[in-house]
Amino acid sequence: MLKGRQSVFIPWRLKERTRELLSKERGTTYKDHGGRVSVCLVYPNTYYVGMSNLGFQFVYGSLNLREDCVCERAFLPERDELDELRVGSIPLFSLESQTPLNRFDIIAFSLSFEEDYLNIPTILRLCNIPVYARDRGLEGPLLLGGGCAVSMNPEPLGDIFDILFIGEADGILGNIIDLYQRFKRGGMVYKEGYLYEVAHLEGVYVPSFYGFTYDGPVVKSIRVLRDGIKPRVTARKVRDIDSAPLIHTVVTTPWTEFSGTCLVEIERGCPEGCRFCTAGFIYLPPRWRRKEGVLDGVRKGLEDTKKVGLVGSAVSEYPYIKDVLREGTRLGGELTVSSLRADILDEELLHLLKGSGYRTVTIAPEAGSERLRRIINKPISDDNLLRAVELAEKVGLRRLKLYYLLGLPCEEDGDAEAIAELTLKMKAIFSGSISLSVNPFVPKPFTPFQWHPLEKREVVGRRFSIIKGLVSKKKGITVKTISTRRAVLQTYLSRGDRRVGGTIVDASMEGISGALRKADPPVEGYVYRERTYQEILPWDIVDFGIRKEYLWDEYQRGLEGKTTPPCNPDVCTRCGVCGNRG
Ligand code: SF4
Repeated sequence: MLKGRQSVFIPWRLKERTRELLSKERGTTYKDHGGRVSVCLVYPNTYYVGMSNLGFQFVYGSLNLREDCVCERAFLPERDELDELRVGSIPLFSLESQTPLNRFDIIAFSLSFEEDYLNIPTILRLCNIPVYARDRGLEGPLLLGGGCAVSMNPEPLGDIFDILFIGEADGILGNIIDLYQRFKRGGMVYKEGYLYEVAHLEGVYVPSFYGFTYDGPVVKSIRVLRDGIKPRVTARKVRDIDSAPLIHTVVTTPWTEFSGTCLVEIERGCPEGCRFCTAGFIYLPPRWRRKEGVLDGVRKGLEDTKKVGLVGSAVSEYPYIKDVLREGTRLGGELTVSSLRADILDEELLHLLKGSGYRTVTIAPEAGSERLRRIINKPISDDNLLRAVELAEKVGLRRLKLYYLLGLPCEEDGDAEAIAELTLKMKAIFSGSISLSVNPFVPKPFTPFQWHPLEKREVVGRRFSIIKGLVSKKKGITVKTISTRRAVLQTYLSRGDRRVGGTIVDASMEGISGALRKADPPVEGYVYRERTYQEILPWDIVDFGIRKEYLWDEYQRGLEGKTTPPCNPDVCTRCGVCGNRG
């Protein structure tokens, strides 16, 4: 229940830092808490990282549009702030009104990346909130989590959160607040009753209503523990994207990765079906926003800032991309996009991008050889990649960024050599700088490769050294990677079951290495084990509308080097998503 705003002693230095952050923002909402449902939206990473997240921004904006709701923000404090809070026993407080988090009705975590899970216990302890749901009893704020990471597998957080939200947030947030208001008007929020009601909403998972049994690292059964609770949780998806509010940056600040940039979502879901990509499956079917809606968002963004970033899983496939770039530039804006698909890139698009301030061409070939690109269902030819680089040179762009994965199914050392050879060919035709980002492939839920084991660290390390050895002497090429230890951690957190929550809690107290070493069942069973088709997967509790047989069939086709054509929602029903549409 809302306890009302309560002041807390905050040392001068922390107060100053908060004031400085807020003073540089545009679009911040300040509201009185009185009579409203109060939500503290938490990003379990720093302000700099959290404010770059469009989903986080969307939730903040849409909750504050409601007259009966106040939404404020909190982030993982920087290291020195964390120490200051701990030493002074000062509870973590919200940015806008400096209210301690445990005074809010709802604490909602935005969870896009699994590694952020490790910060959740730290944040809860800073708010004097018990980490496990079972220790919180019926008192205190409701703990809610949502976002891409938790949608594809909510189970690792099942013992920590009261409610986990699966799928796209548009629409459902309103239902959750409506229900809360109804309970609140009735005098009090009886947590158990609220959870039972809310569990009936599409996209809502209440983990305490489900029981899992295990045999080592394998799930043996999933049981519903309460009458009337659905056996699986259907992910929430917006059918008609144009009927939903446009998703765009609500608060701009210079202190983010996209400093002073207004991000605008132009489409959702990617038609290409790359077999390693979660976003390419959980956001199906592909949905393009109407041009007029996107242009409204661009115009609105340009009222506050000069820079607009167009965001989506398949930006270069967006049918109106050139029209939007033309109009945005005409209005005096600088427009940028995320990565481009090399086989549909043309000179006009690159000219438009350059004219609107775009400086770095980002392409993701993912694999060095055509053979491996067929296996992952991204069958772009070497010729197409080289032609795209030639165009970038011709247009006068000076930086080229390339994304690759290492440790893909059926990969050999020769595929690492192929990455280096292709890069050297690109350098021969591109006079600007080339940066390679070569990262370990992490098999993720709801992809055809979800059954595949993570490649051993030494194999990935050896292939990375092959690439580095072959290209690093060439001037103008840089190579970066993340550690293979992080890939192990990501795989464990994304493919784990509810018992992984214990490791998350341990890691927040004694460090990740020790926690992983003592994990039971051992980490290897989650990470390096190939799973069978018959095995129950922890994320089988979630239904994205994609048939499991379809994903398995795609996995087998990949291993055989067979490609699958892109989506065509007008005629295709093969994965089950379009067939399920009402
Ligand atoms: S049914 Fe076909 S068109 Fe629809 S999302 Fe699945 S693959 Fe794409």
